[in-house]
Amino acid sequence: MSKIGIYLFLIILCCFFIPIVFTNTIKHGLVNEMNNIANITQENIISNTYDYKKYGTIKLLHADTGKVEELPIDEYLYGVVAAEMPATFEVEALKAQAVVARTYTIYKITTGSKHENADVCTDPNCCQAWISKEDRLAKWPAKDREADWAKIVNAVNSTAGQIITYDGKPIDAFFHANSGGKTEIPANVWGGTGYPYLQVVETAGEDAYSQYASTVKLSYDDVLKKLKTKYPKVKIDFTKDDDIKIIEYDDSGRVKTVKFGNIQIAGVEARTIFGLKSANFTMVKNAKEKQITFDVVGYGHGVGMSQTGADTLAKEGEKYDEIIKHFYIGVEIDNV
Ligand SMILES: [Zn+2]
Repeated sequence: MSKIGIYLFLIILCCFFIPIVFTNTIKHGLVNEMNNIANITQENIISNTYDYKKYGTIKLLHADTGKVEELPIDEYLYGVVAAEMPATFEVEALKAQAVVARTYTIYKITTGSKHENADVCTDPNCCQAWISKEDRLAKWPAKDREADWAKIVNAVNSTAGQIITYDGKPIDAFFHANSGGKTEIPANVWGGTGYPYLQVVETAGEDAYSQYASTVKLSYDDVLKKLKTKYPKVKIDFTKDDDIKIIEYDDSGRVKTVKFGNIQIAGVEARTIFGLKSANFTMVKNAKEKQITFDVVGYGHGVGMSQTGADTLAKEGEKYDEIIKHFYIGVEIDNV
């Protein structure tokens, strides 16, 4: 046999045997589980055939590693919905979240990203939260994994291509965990105007969720220390009832202005300084314990869609488009 003949024989041998060896190795562990999930995908998951054209893929910056990954937009959204909303929520609430997250993403792409080489990042304090399928599945109880993932994929695929628009343009689709019963306008949180679709709307039933009520207790010393990080000249006489009080509320019932001794600050600033879950709070002074108790209602800035509010409405039988139109006034749901 010539040398070339021997090489050819070896190459054919490799082509035949290597796949067999690999197939046998990967039939175990996580990969096997992924295969099972893939089977479920084929059986129960609505297929996604929407043609996004130029919005087909997005560049995702991983905040933890600094790496940029390019992936199909709806595949990115599986990770956003999985990170932003519990899979135990109603299907219609998850669908509303999927459309809101898609709108937010398209809005970021069309209005200009904060990031140089990416459209969005995985940091919830900067863009939207995102979790990989692998990490998400690992955090769920094994018995629920496949059904929960299928629920999320379906929420995204069944709304493929849909975004929320106002005057024909994608809206800035803010959302938060729990409105405490009433949402907030952006002007009271960040200042500025130009969001006619973001108004104060009421949703009943949000008190049924754990995100609704919270309490923060701080000693007089801690209150003063925290204020001093921002206002070094603050002075409070804790014996005077008048020295710590809420001066004004806004239309949504959140604190607009609050007084601490010789300073007056915005409710949203007090929220940040004292680490409160929202700007909807009351303060009770306990002179004996030298302590102030903040009782807080709601979770988040309160602007746009409330996630627990969306779940409440879904439980009452509202569809995802009705939920969206409850929280964003005068909007339409269009294709990208
Ligand atoms: Zn970001």
